[in-house]
Amino acid sequence: MKEKIYIFPFHKVNSNIIKKLALQLEKKFGYPIRIGKEIDIPPSSFNSKRNQYLSPILLSKLKQNIPHDAAKVLGVADVDLYVPYLNFVFGQAELGGKAALISIIRLRQEYYGLKPDQKLFELRILKEATHELGHCYGLNHCPNPRCVMHFSNSLRDTDYKSHEFCSNCKKIIERAK
Ligand SMILES: [Zn+2]
Ligand SMILES: [Zn+2]
Repeated sequence: MKEKIYIFPFHKVNSNIIKKLALQLEKKFGYPIRIGKEIDIPPSSFNSKRNQYLSPILLSKLKQNIPHDAAKVLGVADVDLYVPYLNFVFGQAELGGKAALISIIRLRQEYYGLKPDQKLFELRILKEATHELGHCYGLNHCPNPRCVMHFSNSLRDTDYKSHEFCSNCKKIIERAK
């Protein structure tokens, strides 16, 4: 059976966004992409003081849902994620593992009081999803600021980098497949 990458929306995430992302990731990674059933956000992940959700709890919930034919699984949430000692995270992944998670909430221009920009929003989602899945394929952060595996401290970094792996990272991914 051919291995697949699964995308699991956490709670409510716009289904058109998920479908578009699936098509783009299919092209990029060369695996068939399946969209899985919506996963509930564990209530225990919510921190009312921060008004944010603890990312590792969502990631472990995702890991309980890994289908047997999954090469990788990507969770997509539309809530704000954090880990201790950081204000927020765009995403999280297991290095060399199967599960990756992204939040799309901070990728919207509106989040910063700016005019909506759907194209830019979708491009940022593709970059963050590719980045976190790249970690699952064993990639660490890349010093090349144009490479999708470059670390994004802010959206400025995300917007500067491309959605592609640099030639070095590409080689590592092909070997890991
Ligand atoms: Zn990273
Ligand atoms: Zn790279």
